[in-house]
Amino acid sequence: MASEPRTPAETSTPCTTAVGCRTVSKVWAQGTARAHEALRDIDLDIGPGEFVAFLGPSGCGKSTLLYLIAGLEQATGGEIQSFGKVVAAPSPDRSLIFQETSLFPWLTVWQNVSFGLSIRGDGLDQRKSVAREALQRVGLAEAMEKRPDELSGGMRQRVAVARALAMRPKVLLMDEPFAALDVQTRQKMQDFLIDVWRESSASVLFVTHHIDEAVALADRVVVFTARPGRIKTIVPIDLPRPRDPFSRECEALRRQLTDLLRDEVDRAFAEQEALAESV
Ligand code: ADP
Repeated sequence: MASEPRTPAETSTPCTTAVGCRTVSKVWAQGTARAHEALRDIDLDIGPGEFVAFLGPSGCGKSTLLYLIAGLEQATGGEIQSFGKVVAAPSPDRSLIFQETSLFPWLTVWQNVSFGLSIRGDGLDQRKSVAREALQRVGLAEAMEKRPDELSGGMRQRVAVARALAMRPKVLLMDEPFAALDVQTRQKMQDFLIDVWRESSASVLFVTHHIDEAVALADRVVVFTARPGRIKTIVPIDLPRPRDPFSRECEALRRQLTDLLRDEVDRAFAEQEALAESV
């Protein structure tokens, strides 16, 4: 897969938009009998260092938008820019972390973390030093020489975050990264992510269908409609962190987001039932 090189112009151009989406649409398998409209007319600007959650019913196109921003898929309408450059392919500036971490089981933790650097051609000492620093930032410096199967699920996700950080991304794209973890571990990972995000100064785009998670983490919550996903509204969260989930403000936000999502979840369910009946 082609990858955009990081040019001096790209790193020196001042730009206030980390990710800009202009009337972005995506129809999967466009022009075929299986054409499937996932996203319609998404207009969205994300600032440098901003933490934005994408919230919406299952199947509304949240992950699709993340893949488009990552450059892994192409929009069928509109345009996406990152720091003033059109997104046409994956770039080390934008790292994607999935729900299920795919670490290479035969590599040690530090080798996994520095895998992208080896593709880039960095030498052994450089790779090891960057991996050590990234692992320190996620609290796993002691696990450098371990293998993935010696780690818990939460630790493996932290390795995935370290692997993403090792590339020094300007934008961290996270697709329900904690969904497979138990509730307590998820909570810990949320606290940890806030610390990492603050230190890295990257923008974070975080897909979730958990209202609690969006309220705990985000500066803004983008609420999507049922498929085809459009932006229903954007809810700003202007509360200091760490946030008390039992505070009146968080409670009010959860209620607001629940109300906003209710109709969309009902519509998504109705569509899925109709699809199941037509099969
Ligand atoms: P979400 O992340 O909100 O759950 P997705 O972005 O995964 O939603 O999916 C949006 C819609 O696009 C769904 O109907 C899904 O089935 C469809 N879809 C996702 N990926 C593909 C693909 N690679 N090919 C065809 N359809 C897809």
